Amino acid sequence: MGFLSRSIRKLGPLGGYQFARQICRNQPRILMYHRFSDPPVKGWASPECFEQQVRHIRKRYNPYSLVGLMKYHREHGRMPSHAVVITVDDGYRDFYEYAFPILQRLGMPATLFATTGFIDRQLWLWPDKITWILGQLSHINQNLTIGPFTVNEGALNDESRNELWKRSIAYALSLPDEEKHEFISALADELGLIFPDGIPESFAPLSWDELKKMQEAGIEIGGHTVTHPSLGQVTESQARDEIFGCRDALNQHLGRQDRTFCYPNGQPSDFQYFLPELVREAGFLGAVTAFPDAQGISNRYLMRRHASGDNMFQFHKAVSGFELLGHCVKGDRKLGLGYSAT
Ligand SMILES: [Zn+2]
Repeated sequence: MGFLSRSIRKLGPLGGYQFARQICRNQPRILMYHRFSDPPVKGWASPECFEQQVRHIRKRYNPYSLVGLMKYHREHGRMPSHAVVITVDDGYRDFYEYAFPILQRLGMPATLFATTGFIDRQLWLWPDKITWILGQLSHINQNLTIGPFTVNEGALNDESRNELWKRSIAYALSLPDEEKHEFISALADELGLIFPDGIPESFAPLSWDELKKMQEAGIEIGGHTVTHPSLGQVTESQARDEIFGCRDALNQHLGRQDRTFCYPNGQPSDFQYFLPELVREAGFLGAVTAFPDAQGISNRYLMRRHASGDNMFQFHKAVSGFELLGHCVKGDRKLGLGYSAT
């Protein structure tokens, strides 16, 4: 644990969060969630935990959907004070099952970023294919080569499976998009596995009807591409197809609306200089990354986000502005210059 993290742990309960909340009152924080479950799964928000967080936001902050925040800025020429945005990525069905009822009951806005090819059930999200493959294995029968690394023969436990998952995902993300799909198919082949025809229930997407119902209830349905590639690993014309194709599918199924966009995976290596301009050209009012740094939300097409989920310590650090403050103190900038469309 670093010095900053230790200081935050000590300061937080002693008024550090309160201090951060005041200092950062004009710097909206955008929180990032992925999956929800009951009973709890590590890293995923359980309904109890999520409700506690939503209630905290409702009591202490001004909640907005991301598009709501963008519209406020357009109208007033400044950001609202103490604004917090809940965002959820991908379009898994568990959002509808566990998170939406809580948001609805408490009258809270939020933004859900949907991968439209996934909603259409034309594909599963590719990281889930790797999860599925590794979930089928209890034992590696012979030395297995996965890209640049070799896995020795032996039994797999949760820890080694998780390690293998991380390395496989990192390798897949380093490949041009077509090669990534080839790699995943080759891995299944090599292990003698055949993917099921439909998307397995545990990786299932929301339906367009569910998205429509949520949109009508005040949840923004934003864009997250068609196939969820790393946009750092595609050509400019592929990126255009992913961004504009996603916009068109959302408008077709849900009606034309102002929306925002989320870059898949969203780490510094998932960006190319031309992306913000493409997203702006497609008509999205703003876009988010999946990492925080000192830039905060200063570039409307590269707004930074703070991770949230089942960890209350991380939640408080993120929501109060303490995490943002930490990055500002360090002057931490994870993405180089050359990205325009501010
Ligand atoms: Zn995603």
